[in-house]
Amino acid sequence: MRKWKCLICKYLHEGDTPPDKCPVCKAPASKFVEAEPAFPEADAAGDAAAGESRTHSSAAPPSRKSKILDGVADLLSRRHAHPISVHFPNGLLPVALMMFLLAWLFDAATLATAGFYNLAFVILALPLVIFTGFLDWERKYKKALTPMFQIKIIAAAVVFAACLISLFWYLIDPGVIGSPQGWLFILVSGVAVAAAGVAGHIGGKLVFKD
Ligand SMILES: [Zn+2]
Repeated sequence: MRKWKCLICKYLHEGDTPPDKCPVCKAPASKFVEAEPAFPEADAAGDAAAGESRTHSSAAPPSRKSKILDGVADLLSRRHAHPISVHFPNGLLPVALMMFLLAWLFDAATLATAGFYNLAFVILALPLVIFTGFLDWERKYKKALTPMFQIKIIAAAVVFAACLISLFWYLIDPGVIGSPQGWLFILVSGVAVAAAGVAGHIGGKLVFKD
């Protein structure tokens, strides 16, 4: 049985031919290379390509500062800073939604305040999550724009936008949950949680390949 490796997400396929589409990242068959167990050249080919593009992009030798920044970016990517940091908003966001929902159901202003503080910490964590996600996409997936990455990027943008809308809406009108628009405010939080779920589901597929 021959083995084929997806150059985008490193998924391994067993069969006489590569699959029409990568079941993990939806990359086309052309993105598959044969992976010989004795020669891990699929990795080498990918790394060589990456190295080539790196040397092409930098005509001048990299400065000391850019070398340090590159080292930090590599470290963040290799030590899985994205999957780690994403647990902050993904853990806090559903709690914020629950607080807002309970505040709405029981007309409890303190729960709305609790939800707001949870949301504030989500917003604080999101820049790191988005930045490390971009680094992984750039370094591990060579900025591939298969449908799965497009959906993931859109989902991240929706989370960020919905959280910012909720934050500013609450700051402008702290009594919004008790107002006639309370349901709409909760719906916006619900959209943020759903989009975070979509982004997380795809992330899980990329990390675990199943
Ligand atoms: Zn793939």
